[in-house]
Amino acid sequence: MDEHRSATTHSPEISDSEGMIEAMGTPVDEGLAPRILTRPEHKLSRKDLSQEAIKVLYRLHRSGYSAYLVGGSVRDLLLGGRPKDFDIATNARPQEIRRLFRNSRVIGRRFRLVHVFFKGEIIEVATFRASPEPPETPDDWEEAEEEAAEEEAVADPPRPHIVEDVYGTPAEDARRRDFTINALFYNIADFSIIDHVGGIEDLERGIIRTIGDPDERFVEDPVRMMRALEYAARLGFEIDPQTAEAIDRQKALISEASTPRLTYELLECLRSGQATAIHKAWWKAGVFTRAYQDLPLDTDESVRVLEMVDAGVVAGRKFSDPSLIGGFFLPRFLVLAEEETDEKGRVNNVRLLDRLREMLEPAAASMHLSNQTVHLIHQGLFAVTKMRCAPERGHQVLKLARQGYFPVAWEFFVFAAAVGYITPEVHQSWKRALRKVGKQELTDQQRESAQERPRPHRRRRPRRRPR
Ligand code: ATP
Ligand code: MG
Repeated sequence: MDEHRSATTHSPEISDSEGMIEAMGTPVDEGLAPRILTRPEHKLSRKDLSQEAIKVLYRLHRSGYSAYLVGGSVRDLLLGGRPKDFDIATNARPQEIRRLFRNSRVIGRRFRLVHVFFKGEIIEVATFRASPEPPETPDDWEEAEEEAAEEEAVADPPRPHIVEDVYGTPAEDARRRDFTINALFYNIADFSIIDHVGGIEDLERGIIRTIGDPDERFVEDPVRMMRALEYAARLGFEIDPQTAEAIDRQKALISEASTPRLTYELLECLRSGQATAIHKAWWKAGVFTRAYQDLPLDTDESVRVLEMVDAGVVAGRKFSDPSLIGGFFLPRFLVLAEEETDEKGRVNNVRLLDRLREMLEPAAASMHLSNQTVHLIHQGLFAVTKMRCAPERGHQVLKLARQGYFPVAWEFFVFAAAVGYITPEVHQSWKRALRKVGKQELTDQQRESAQERPRPHRRRRPRRRPR
């Protein structure tokens, strides 16, 4: 793999003609030729792409730019799966992309990229980039968004954070990526797959391998270790021995990684439908406790909650961030609730609320959780203790069901029923009571997730991701 990292003569200016030569499969800046699979040699078909992704690829191509589908979508399509989202790389510069798509916005701080908005889907379009530097965090993005808006308002804007040499060639863009299987390009010009890093072979053999020296790549960005284990669990792949050994050597660095990005990876894991397997892999490799020091997750009940989340996601349910993160705290909270309940079943609310706050505070701070998320977890968990007995009166149900935190509380209630804190009879009586007061949507959601149905074509959530 090292040879693939050999330096290239970097040319920050990528002309359109270079793009077209690249599109024809001839590397212009490399001593090493990429491997190219022509259209009949692979099974990725245009009809597997979303209409929006096709639209963006073609508009770039017809405007004279090179345009590739890149990253996870190419990997997933070659494996016969459905991608979560479609990312595009091009030689067009952010302002040029912006001009081509009215429904777009420039984002990113040091490295600017463009989000093209469609109904329910965002296509991310990035100019080929040279630098392998760690992805940015949402905090950077927020500032950058303001800057970008100001720049657009000025004819010749000063761009203090943008350094031209962040842009690179397609080969450099492939090599700055994390794993070989994530660096394949699908070329809209001739429908070929371009592989600069040995990704096709690794995809065929089921191997997760860093691009370049694994120690260097993990030091550069420790979150990649979490990602390697996550992909292995999700795809049922093996981690290449050198990559695995480097994880073992470098895992201590994870506790210094950017917390918003770690929280983002956790939420991605929880929404993948394979949280149980990913968590197990993280736990076994000794990275979970380093990444999420303040999350209690050490009991069978916690694993049961993860299994329920997986079952829900596979059935097409959407969980909110507070219900996913709060799920980690539920088993320990239930122990606290037991401890604060006397033999007559009365709960010492003041003490329980205090202990709940003490339990959540460290994680709230170390994981950069928003006040709103913490509030919903706090209220939602506490509400479960109020639902331990069957509801007595309709207005009690309605009052609770009208609270903003109730959808989160209901998720926790269902988890609590699965781990035996709520009896099946009480569970059923709350379901009936909710239907009676016209709040059946929550219980219907559950019924739906009980039936296995094919996973819908998942569109990207319109929210920013740290990169
Ligand atoms: P998923 O199915 O989880 O979305 P993905 O491969 O699309 O998987 P993303 O997090 O969406 O993962 O990132 C898109 C692409 O960006 C990756 O495929 C990879 O090429 C590149 N990438 C993401 N994170 C990193 C990183 N930390 N270091 C280097 N490259 C990265
Ligand atoms: Mg993706």
